[in-house]
Amino acid sequence: MSQAVYLDYAATTPVDPAVVEAMVRHLGPEGTFANPASRSHLYGWLAEEAVENARRQVADVLNADPREIVWTSGATEANNLALKGVLEARGGGHVITSAIEHKAVLDACKWLEQQGHAVTYLMPAEDGRISPESVKGALREDTVLVSVMHANNETGVINDIEAIGALCRDNGVLFHTDAAQSVGKLALDVQAMPVDLVSVCAHKVYGPKGIGALYVRRAPDVKVASQIHGGGHERGMRSGTLPTHQIVGMGEAFVLATANRDDEGARIAALRDRLWQGISQLEGVSINGGESPRLPGHLNVAFADVDGEMLLTAMNQVAVSSGSACTSASLEPSYVLKAMGVTDALAHGSIRFSVGRFTSADDIERAVQNVIDVVNRLRKAN
Ligand SMILES: *Cc1c(COP(=O)(O)O)cnc(C)c1O
Repeated sequence: MSQAVYLDYAATTPVDPAVVEAMVRHLGPEGTFANPASRSHLYGWLAEEAVENARRQVADVLNADPREIVWTSGATEANNLALKGVLEARGGGHVITSAIEHKAVLDACKWLEQQGHAVTYLMPAEDGRISPESVKGALREDTVLVSVMHANNETGVINDIEAIGALCRDNGVLFHTDAAQSVGKLALDVQAMPVDLVSVCAHKVYGPKGIGALYVRRAPDVKVASQIHGGGHERGMRSGTLPTHQIVGMGEAFVLATANRDDEGARIAALRDRLWQGISQLEGVSINGGESPRLPGHLNVAFADVDGEMLLTAMNQVAVSSGSACTSASLEPSYVLKAMGVTDALAHGSIRFSVGRFTSADDIERAVQNVIDVVNRLRKAN
């Protein structure tokens, strides 16, 4: 039996071979392996140059100033730094976020609540989006930060962060967005958009796991208190020896993603649409968040009258997630789908397919066949 078709690009992506090559050049004794903070020899200067080159590459994707990029270990850390760092720098205040954020935002918010700060969790509409009106309605005199994700990891549904950011700006409130899913796939121009903090990572766009960044606006200057103390790296916001190879890999991955963004997005969306066309031959299937603007690769399908866990196990020709990868260890239905008003039964019967750079048309046909066979078999057995 050949390997299952990988349709879980929203959980993580393989590293692009061009990125692997760039990373390897910064590891071995012949490579640019030195500590970028070493100021006393050429080895260190070359590593610093590689890091600063990648910083510019990442900044360019956001149309940011390189000095606004703070390296982190990923989007989880970037989210923690944004939320905890702003609250600490401000000496507390009220936070507005949404119930459909990634756990890295939700759990950081829970921690803030334990420290005595107030947090409001906005519910999405049925279409999976957080409305700017709901943000407006939740603003308080003491609100200091709003955190709403750009695109949701489970449904791929895109929020109107431009409108939400504009609202925040009008009210003198900082706006953070988790763009881990959208960066490299959607335009996110920090000069055109009123966002103050943006979390990104490499491994959802064909870069390595374990590296990410927080964009922190300089004008007007956003204050973020460090959460990891050490050598004062990253202008005091995040200490720790910079992983040159990871950083170079992220820079290269971002350049690749943006160079081909529109063509790749169109190709992936066409494959995703063909996948849905195939699956929708079945009765009792629907797209969670279907009518909303969505990322090109995402397809979150609710299968009526089948158990999601059984479906996942039986579909041995496709590698996919039920709900989000982070919660698939538990049998709780997806909190994102539940917040959207999807019933427990349908949420249990929901599967996230996500298409990516290395998906072929043949892969999609194989996946369609497997899904149809398995769903028909399971429904017959009911
Ligand atoms: C993957 C993901 C994260 C976590 O990023 P890591 O780099 O794996 O820590 C955060 N938010 C969203 C929306 C994600 O999809």
